[in-house]
Amino acid sequence: MKYLLVFAVLAVAFYVWRAGRRNAPRDLPPQKRPGAPAQPQDMVRCAACAVHLPRGDALAGPDGAVYCSEEHRQRARR
Ligand SMILES: [Zn+2]
Repeated sequence: MKYLLVFAVLAVAFYVWRAGRRNAPRDLPPQKRPGAPAQPQDMVRCAACAVHLPRGDALAGPDGAVYCSEEHRQRARR
């Protein structure tokens, strides 16, 4: 009889766990999920001022170098 009670508690816990998983937003990509850590990004170095910034925020220059801002890209062109 004692084991039946243990089994009942485990069954309820399993049901609650599964119900919680079903409500989790699975169709969203990981970076859109609230509270999830951001995906790692490549860091690049500005050719003008040497500041490091994510590749997504960098501006590509005509010579293949990357710059942190339009101003630094213009400065490198001269
Ligand atoms: Zn810069």
